[in-house]
Amino acid sequence: MEKRLAVCNLCEAICGLELTIDDGRVTGVRGNPDDPLSRGHICPKGVAIGDIHADPDRLTRPVRRDRATGEWTEIGWDEALDLVADGFARVMNEHGRHALGIYLGNPNVHSLGSMTHGTALVKALKTPNTFSATSVDQLPHQLLGHLMFGHQLLLPVPDIDRTSYFLVFGGNPMASNGSLMTVPDFPGRLRELKARGGRMVVFDPRRTETAKVADEHHFLRPGSDPWVLLAMVRQLFVDGVATAPQYAVGLEAVEQAVAPFTPALAEQHSGVPASEIVRIARDLGAADCAVAYGRVGVSTHEFGSVCQWAINLLNVLTGNLDRLGGALFTSPAIDVVGTGLVGRGGHGRRHSRVRGLPETGGELPVAALREEIETPGDGQVRAMLTLSGNPVLSTPDGSGLDRALAGLEFMAAVDIYINETTRHADVILPPTTALERDHYDLIFHALAVRNTARFTPAVFPKGRDARHDWEIYRDLALRVTDRLRPKRSLLDRIKLRARMSVSPTRMIQVLLARGDSGTTITRLRKHPEGVDLGALRPGQLPDRLRTRDKTLDLAPALAIDDLPRLETVAAPSEGELLLIGRRHKQDCNSWMHNTERLTKGRPRHQLLMHPDDLAARGLTDGATVKVTSRVGTVEVDVQATDDVMPGVVSLPHGYGHGRAGVRLGVANQVAGVSINDLTDPERLDVSGNAALSGVPVTVG
Ligand code: SF4
Repeated sequence: MEKRLAVCNLCEAICGLELTIDDGRVTGVRGNPDDPLSRGHICPKGVAIGDIHADPDRLTRPVRRDRATGEWTEIGWDEALDLVADGFARVMNEHGRHALGIYLGNPNVHSLGSMTHGTALVKALKTPNTFSATSVDQLPHQLLGHLMFGHQLLLPVPDIDRTSYFLVFGGNPMASNGSLMTVPDFPGRLRELKARGGRMVVFDPRRTETAKVADEHHFLRPGSDPWVLLAMVRQLFVDGVATAPQYAVGLEAVEQAVAPFTPALAEQHSGVPASEIVRIARDLGAADCAVAYGRVGVSTHEFGSVCQWAINLLNVLTGNLDRLGGALFTSPAIDVVGTGLVGRGGHGRRHSRVRGLPETGGELPVAALREEIETPGDGQVRAMLTLSGNPVLSTPDGSGLDRALAGLEFMAAVDIYINETTRHADVILPPTTALERDHYDLIFHALAVRNTARFTPAVFPKGRDARHDWEIYRDLALRVTDRLRPKRSLLDRIKLRARMSVSPTRMIQVLLARGDSGTTITRLRKHPEGVDLGALRPGQLPDRLRTRDKTLDLAPALAIDDLPRLETVAAPSEGELLLIGRRHKQDCNSWMHNTERLTKGRPRHQLLMHPDDLAARGLTDGATVKVTSRVGTVEVDVQATDDVMPGVVSLPHGYGHGRAGVRLGVANQVAGVSINDLTDPERLDVSGNAALSGVPVTVG
């Protein structure tokens, strides 16, 4: 039996772990108390991390599907990689590079190899039809980061350890431990905030785990956040306290733009009393230090970009941007922003073929993927590569996408499971799991509430016939590009081979050496618990801005031009309810629902509904009900609760397993349906992010 330090890569909190290993298996997991960021925190998912490595459902060798019988057969790596390269090259040589679509799922951002080599593979394949989980999640944040601060990943993070007033819209860090705010042990940090006299105020249509421990929770109707947020911004001008730093431009334009958004109008849309909106705006402005934060509920929203703009404005105009206890930029040992590892972002430089939707950050909205596959014509997507994703469960109108994937000429997946999406693949290439790979978190150190750095060597050696994700990406990039016509120049091919052959760990070593934190890989190897680089630093602006003229644009045209669209929002029709999602501590998006550890206990798949809404329809608690949206109908058990406000129903994200051909142990599968069989690909934010929240439905 031995103890090994590890990292949990299942969510953005990146907790440090201490594993007990016995005979090649994880027999114990606890949070590492010496980790300077996570301080010993662990959640139920982290405890289950060894279950993935030992999972009998997990693929460890490539598999090929016989299209006639649906049977899967294990094959060797060379054969599998050649099959995939031949399949893509055939389609691309015949129909052009547009004919390949690529989808990157959420786990990519949690894998070092995907960050260093997955993006390079996508670039090498040169298809404009690239999609990812970003456009069902945080795209508005990235777009506003690009427009206001000059880089899509220059995102201010709440200084939760020092703030005295924390205003939350649509986020549930008690369950998530933060998102775009890596805050492991949020419960402990909240206790500390309260102990120093601070307050947390939450707006949410559901009394979430976070709302339950807040000093104030205000129900607001799904979709009404922009009215409330803009009314708060307006109030700062009315009270004469709105200030902007010298490096900011556009203050007058903001004042004019928000003028029509009165607290009375906000009350009409949201149900939150105007007097409360005014009071909270004043409390925010008057606090010693304060920070506003919005997450999934206001990101997956028809006005996600307006919401993120307004949240940034609340922080800037109250003087809390770049201020201790406010919203701060991190100083990571490897700065993905400063080094250019991730591009600065952009919007509208090209558009999708069918609906003309603009790209953001180089990707098309995934809500457009189905139509790009199904609509004949020049540029049609005929082959797909999915990288660790399950868009059938995680993107709008998942059932429609499910049907579209079945009609592809060729599909390959890099994934460890035969799930609802990869069951359509011709070939699946399974990478090693997190415990078999070295890890340094390039993204979430850059979004964490404390500056730390940690390098985690692989806990288990790679199996004899296993491949890391970066090795699969390398081999795919080289084999596919070798087959494409016209052939790329010799120099291009040499450069690609050189780029793809450097291991992720070597890249980290070089990037650390180039940084100015004084952190080297040698030091990190000596301290696998992580190295503390100190609290977030105020006073970094304007130097830290990546805008070309070093100004902060308070009034990006894209946000201001979207305001008139608010007037077109229709109230729900008679009898309609608004559907919102939810997440639980035991759920990891659409996967890990085959582990006993995370699925035992009380069921949590139900549609949550207010007792008054049930009574109005003659329904009873526990009944099976039909939920219908413009897109589809599902049948699910209903649970009465006043944790959702009247007029609102909630289903969890990532459920709806059990489709034919899925190879996940069904014994322990959670019940339930996919919320994305109801969400609507036509409902989009200007960024292209799907509006998964606030979908009009009927229940009967
Ligand atoms: S909060 Fe849980 S899932 Fe997230 S990193 Fe920590 S242990 Fe892992």
